Amino acid sequence: MKDLRRVRIAELLKDPTPYIGKEVDVKGWVRSRRGNKYVQFVALNDGSTINNLQIVFDLQKFSDEQLKPITTGSSIHVQGQLVESQGKGQSVEIQAENLEIYGTANPDEYPLQKKGHSLEFLREIAHLRPRTNTFGAVFRVRAALAYAIHKFFTEKGFYYFHTPLITASDCEGAGAMFQVTTLPLNDLPKNEDGTIDYSEDFFGRQSCLTVSGQLEGELGATSLGAIYTFGPTFRAENSNTPRHLSEFWMIEPEIAFADIRENMDIAEEFIKYCINYALENCKDDILFLQEHFDKGLVERLKFVVENDFVRLPYSEGIKILEESGKKFEFPVYWGVDLASEHERYLVEEHFKRPVILTDYPKEIKAFYMKLNEDGKTVRAMDVLFPKIGEIIGGSEREENYDKLLKRVEEQGLDGMDWYLDTRKFGTVPHSGFGLGFERLVLFVTGMQNIRDVIPFPRYPKNCEY
Ligand code: ATP
Ligand code: MN
Repeated sequence: MKDLRRVRIAELLKDPTPYIGKEVDVKGWVRSRRGNKYVQFVALNDGSTINNLQIVFDLQKFSDEQLKPITTGSSIHVQGQLVESQGKGQSVEIQAENLEIYGTANPDEYPLQKKGHSLEFLREIAHLRPRTNTFGAVFRVRAALAYAIHKFFTEKGFYYFHTPLITASDCEGAGAMFQVTTLPLNDLPKNEDGTIDYSEDFFGRQSCLTVSGQLEGELGATSLGAIYTFGPTFRAENSNTPRHLSEFWMIEPEIAFADIRENMDIAEEFIKYCINYALENCKDDILFLQEHFDKGLVERLKFVVENDFVRLPYSEGIKILEESGKKFEFPVYWGVDLASEHERYLVEEHFKRPVILTDYPKEIKAFYMKLNEDGKTVRAMDVLFPKIGEIIGGSEREENYDKLLKRVEEQGLDGMDWYLDTRKFGTVPHSGFGLGFERLVLFVTGMQNIRDVIPFPRYPKNCEY
C-alpha cells in the first residue's frame, strides 16, 4: 500500500470535486459484493455516513483468490482513483489499484448477511446491530442531538453542571431506585432490631443510583444562574413499555429567576432547536429512516418545529377528555394521573399538535413544585408529544422555605436539609424541567421502541453486553 492519508467516505461524497481524478485512500466494512467475471463491485461503508462508496475491482488486475475474503462484514483498505461513476445509484466510484484485507467475516457465521432482519432479532445481537444501516442512522442522529443540546444551552449562557450518579438522598421509600452497596449480600451486618447496618457499607449509609439530577441541579442554578445536566439516570421500575428504560439519559435545565411561563418558553424553543438541528444536519439518515420505517417522519418533524405548542391547564384537559365520548382503557376524572392514551388523545386527536399541560393536582406531582393560590394545584408543566406522550416533565419550584418544609414533612422525607438551605439562604423563584433524551431520539428517528435508540438498552431481565 502507498503512504496516503485516509479520507472518510462522508467527506468524499459530500463534495467529490476536489478528489476526482486523484488517488484516494479509504477504509471500511464491506456491505455487499456483486459483479461478473470481468468486474466486481463492492459497496463500502465506514460508518461516517449512511451512504456506501462503490469500489470497482477489475478482474484483470485482481484475481478471484485475492477478492475471495471480500464478503459482507469484512474490513478492507483500498487505494485507487476516484472517478465519476458510469452506473446508476452513485455519482462517484473508486477504481481499485491496491487492496489490503484487515479482517474477514465468515459468511457461515456472520449474522448480518441479508437486509431486512427484524428489529427484535437485531436487539438480540445488540453488539453487532450498529453495523446495520438502520442503527448506524439512529446512532448518528443520537450523537447529533447530543451535540445540539450542548450547543443550545451553551449559546444561551447555561453552564453544564455535573450532578452525582450515586446519591444518598431520597433512597428511603423510593422503590424505583437501584441500590449501590459493597456489603456481602449473603451475610448482611444487622442492627439489634434486625435492620441492615449501613454504617458498615461503603459510604457508611444507604446509597442508590440517581433517578434525577434535579435537586442537586437546583444548587447549581441558585449559584450559577442557569445550568443544565446531561447524564445517565436509573429507574428500577418494572415498566416493560416501548417508552421506558432502566438506564436512560436525561437533560435537566434549571433556571434561577424563571417562572413557569419562561420555563415553557425555553422548553419549547429548546426542543424545536434540537429537532431542527437534526433536520438540517442528519438529512440522509432521517430520509433513510423515513423510507424504511415511518413515511410521515419529515412532515411530522417539520410540523412540530413550525407550529406553536398548545398550553392548557390540566383541569381543562380533563374536561376535554371527559367530553370526548371516547372509550379509554383507564378512567378519566379530576385528580387522575394521565395515562399515555389520554395524553396521546389530546395531542394526536384533539389538538393535533404538541401540548404543554400545566397546573396539575398537587397529589400526583412531586413535593418541590410550587403551590398555586388555589391550594389544590401545582405549577407543573408536562410537554406531550405525538407518538410519545410525555417527553418533558417540569415545574416552577416552591421557593418559600416554610411551604417547602411542610411538603417535605408531609412526604416524610429525611436528610433534605442541604436542599432546604437553597430556600433558607437567598431564595429565588426558579424553574426547570427534565427531557428524556431517548424519547427525543425516538421522536426524531421515527423508531417505535425506545430499546432501539440507545446502543445498549437496559430493561427488566436484560443487561447483556
Ligand atoms: P412517565 O410518566 O412517562 O413514566 P415520569 O413522569 O416518570 O414519566 P419524569 O420523572 O418527569 O417522568 O422524568 C422526566 C422525563 O424523563 C420524562 O418526561 C421522560 O421523557 C423521561 N423518562 C422518565 N422515565 C423514563 C424511563 N424509564 N425511560 C426513559 N425515559 C424516561
Ligand atoms: Mn415514570
